[in-house]
Order: sequence, then C-alpha cells, then structure tokens
Amino acid sequence: MSTRVAIYEDVERGEREALEVWEEALAWARESGKSAALTGAGISVESGVPDFRSPQGVWARFPVEEYGTIEAFFVNPPKAWRLYRAIWGDIGGKEPNGAHRALAELERAGRLAGLVTQNIDNLHHAAGSRAVIEIHGDARRLQCVRCGRLEQADPEALLASTEVPHCADCGSPLKPNVVFFGEAVRGFTEIDALLADCELMVVAGTSSSVWPANTLPLTVARAGGRVIEFNLSAERAPEAPALSERTLPDILVLGEAGTTLPAFASALLG
Ligand code: ZN
Repeated sequence: MSTRVAIYEDVERGEREALEVWEEALAWARESGKSAALTGAGISVESGVPDFRSPQGVWARFPVEEYGTIEAFFVNPPKAWRLYRAIWGDIGGKEPNGAHRALAELERAGRLAGLVTQNIDNLHHAAGSRAVIEIHGDARRLQCVRCGRLEQADPEALLASTEVPHCADCGSPLKPNVVFFGEAVRGFTEIDALLADCELMVVAGTSSSVWPANTLPLTVARAGGRVIEFNLSAERAPEAPALSERTLPDILVLGEAGTTLPAFASALLG
C-alpha cells in the first residue's frame, strides 16, 4: 500500500482529492479501537524549541562526540554542563502549542491510549497529556547515574550557576535526566504495552530518522494497524530504515502540526 497524501491547505480549500484523504483519515480514527501517538522535535519547533539536529540546534553548537555522549559527562562534567545549560536555555519558558493540546484533548476524550515522544521538553505534560512515554528522558529532573537518585531541576538556578550540581545522597556529579549518546533508550516495556492491539498510530513532527522511534510505526503496521502522519514535509532522513512501503505512513497530512492536529482532533471529537 502506498502513502496517500493530503496537503492541508488543499483540505481547507475543499479540494476534492485532499478532502477525500482527510475524511478517510478521520474515518480510520473513528473506527479504530486503540490508538497511540509518536511525536518528535517537529511538534515543538512551533513552540520555539529549536530541533537539536537543525542548523541552529545544540548539536551544531556543541558537537555530539565532544559534548553529547555519556562518556563526555564522565570524563569532564563541567564541560558537559555547557551543553546541558544550552539545552535548558533552548527549552526554557516555552509553551505547548495547538498540536500538544490536541493530543492531550484526544487522550482526555478516550481517543488516544498514550503517546511516545522523543522530546525532553516537557511540553506534552504541560499541555495536559498524562500517558507520556519519554524515550529520551526528560529535562524536568536531574539524575545521579551512580545511585539513581532523581531530583527536580531548577533551570533558572542552574543557568545562573557555573557549578556542577552534586548528588545529595552520594556526592557524584548530576546530569539532566536525559538520555545522551551511549545511554539506553527508555520505555520499551511501556511501549510494548501501548502498541499491543494498537489499531492506529498518529505520528507527528518526526522524520522517523532516529532509532528506535522510527520502528514504532512499522510495529503497528505489521500488526495490521494504520499509520497517519502529520508533518511539514514528506522528506525522509537518509538514515531512515529501508523505505519499504510498510515503513511509510498510510496517510500523510502535510502542514504545520499546530494547525493540522487541532483541526483533526476537533473534527474527530465533534
Ligand atoms: Zn547519587
């Protein structure tokens, strides 16, 4: 099955083919039992959070090999903390947008069993989503990798300081509770439970380039479920898994997720 594409501007204009695809996506959502969502950086760009991988992103300023690995933290915590402060600088003071709110609304209405996000910016929680699996961790808390202690992060205080904070229990340097390169991605057990019997996966704001998130739509598709993607562009990152047809969404809605997802949610919820 190949991907059917609806450009959202055409849907708004009432263009027949685009409208047909849009209505079909809504029909799938109406008739699906369990639904889940997968989100990535693109959903937060509209809130002003730069994509880490973009030319303005932190990896352009702080090369991954030098700052973004767990080894970099172990070898030189004060240096790694330059990256961590830049991350809080990027996500601080940002508010959820319509896409985050639409997903929270779908969950409240019983239309979404949960969502998996690659983002660490807390905007899904801020929008009111509850069943959120943060596979790359979260920047709300600080983590002690030695004893496992977690504590709330106070970004303002952390940004104002040049010190590396230390664990109150064991004295080790703390890091953000974020998965850096070389650390294990989280949430597999919860993801398995979420995707079991999942009939519809809504993908928003991710080009499906990062393992393992890029395999989740495939998991749903292989089990006979449908995949609807909301994204700005149809491009796939070169490192995406082999572009067999089943890794592509069944329907792709092109437009800003902050516009398309709220429209979809309100059409679905009536
Ligand atoms: Zn500790």
